[in-house]
Amino acid sequence: MKKVKIALMGLGNVGTGVWMILDSNKKEIMKRSGYDVEVAKILVRNKDKKRDVEVPEEIITTDFNDILEDDSIKIVIEVMGGIEPAKEYMLKCMDRNKHIVTANKMLIATEGDELFEKAHDKGVVFNYEASVAGGIPIIKGIEESLTANKIEEFYGIVNGTTNYILSKMQLERLNFDVALKQAQDMGYAEADPTSDIEGFDAQYKLAILSSLAFGTKVDVNNVYREGITKIESIDMKYAKKFDMVIKLLAIAKESNGKLELKVQPTMIPKEHPLANVYDSFNAIFIKGNAVGDLMFYGRGAGSLPTGSAVVGDIVAILRSNVDVANYSHIAQNDLWHREIQNISESHSKFYIRITVIDQPGVLGEITTILGKYNVSLRSVIQKGEENSKGQVTIVLFTHKTSEADVSSAIEELMNLKPVITIDNVIRIEDFKN
Ligand code: NAP
Repeated sequence: MKKVKIALMGLGNVGTGVWMILDSNKKEIMKRSGYDVEVAKILVRNKDKKRDVEVPEEIITTDFNDILEDDSIKIVIEVMGGIEPAKEYMLKCMDRNKHIVTANKMLIATEGDELFEKAHDKGVVFNYEASVAGGIPIIKGIEESLTANKIEEFYGIVNGTTNYILSKMQLERLNFDVALKQAQDMGYAEADPTSDIEGFDAQYKLAILSSLAFGTKVDVNNVYREGITKIESIDMKYAKKFDMVIKLLAIAKESNGKLELKVQPTMIPKEHPLANVYDSFNAIFIKGNAVGDLMFYGRGAGSLPTGSAVVGDIVAILRSNVDVANYSHIAQNDLWHREIQNISESHSKFYIRITVIDQPGVLGEITTILGKYNVSLRSVIQKGEENSKGQVTIVLFTHKTSEADVSSAIEELMNLKPVITIDNVIRIEDFKN
């Protein structure tokens, strides 16, 4: 049996999962890769930290050079996270002809070009399956299994934390703060949940997936992003009235020759497969022009699911033959240029919830303004009972209309005297285009 030495940079959630899988599935991995994989070094910040797995003391190091300068280490697994020093370390390792596996979505989405170029120049493998949707094999799915297709669109629930929160709000009628606290207590949400609840994490993943699916370079800043902090349980209630649920979706589709890329809370019909993805699960619903509709479903995070993707990437390198691999990269100049649509150019159906003073003619005034901007209504709910301040809720569902028109109408509505607040505006996706 051939032996290969690898190194881990990071022994946190994901690193621990990788170690456990390499240990518990050693036989299977040997059989499938043809190699006996030895973890020769593990880089951490704090050598004295208590670990969840038993690791020989002598392989733990805080000195990156122990990995870089050891030419017998052929593959380096980056599961530290963050931009620096992760990027510098990976670039240096590739310069020394080491193959890389990483789970670092933020780095790939924001500064991935330099890493891909380096990998291409040096002829080393740079694999990153775990960076999107944890254990779900969506990257290899798109790059390999679906490569015969023109991908027309995809819709993803790619952030488990927000899906957990929205599931709790929908099924147990919790309000946002309580659901977030539960997600934190369960270990799904970080102490600082900003990246998840404001949609940054999903934005990184959408940038990575859409680059692959559409063969283009996607600047993450061109991906429209909206988080879930404005969603209230009352919005869930109104969605239900119309047989819909609210999900944080990462959406990518072609629209008038441009790419429409957006992360946003979205109302979707309750019978759509994505509507039935609950708790911290992830799913990506994808449409290829040959294969038709497909849905990938599974665990988008966690030690073992993410470790599963990382170890899969290691085995893929070993199978491709460590010494000669030049595996999955497209040279940057082989990519297509695709224009990304500005959100103001997009068209959707909308749900609009407004608090108004309950006085005669208010609905008429609202519909007049909407009409002025070509926003036509599919249905209107006026909540019968007014609150102690004499205010009532009006909920509007529009037909498909332009984002720019809705924005202008809302701006004007805010200046209407009986309108107290525009409480929420949520886009509706019925998957009919
Ligand atoms: P984590 O639990 O915080 O672990 C990070 C590890 O890296 C720790 O062992 C830490 O050392 C080490 N480390 C960090 N900075 C270092 C530095 N400058 N020098 C040396 N070692 C350093 O993180 P994680 O949750 O495993 O996430 C790792 C990566 O996987 C991130 O890019 C994340 O986005 C991605 N990812 C995570 C998940 C998930 O479910 N957690 C899912 C998909 C992708 P110490 O232990 O000594 O502090």
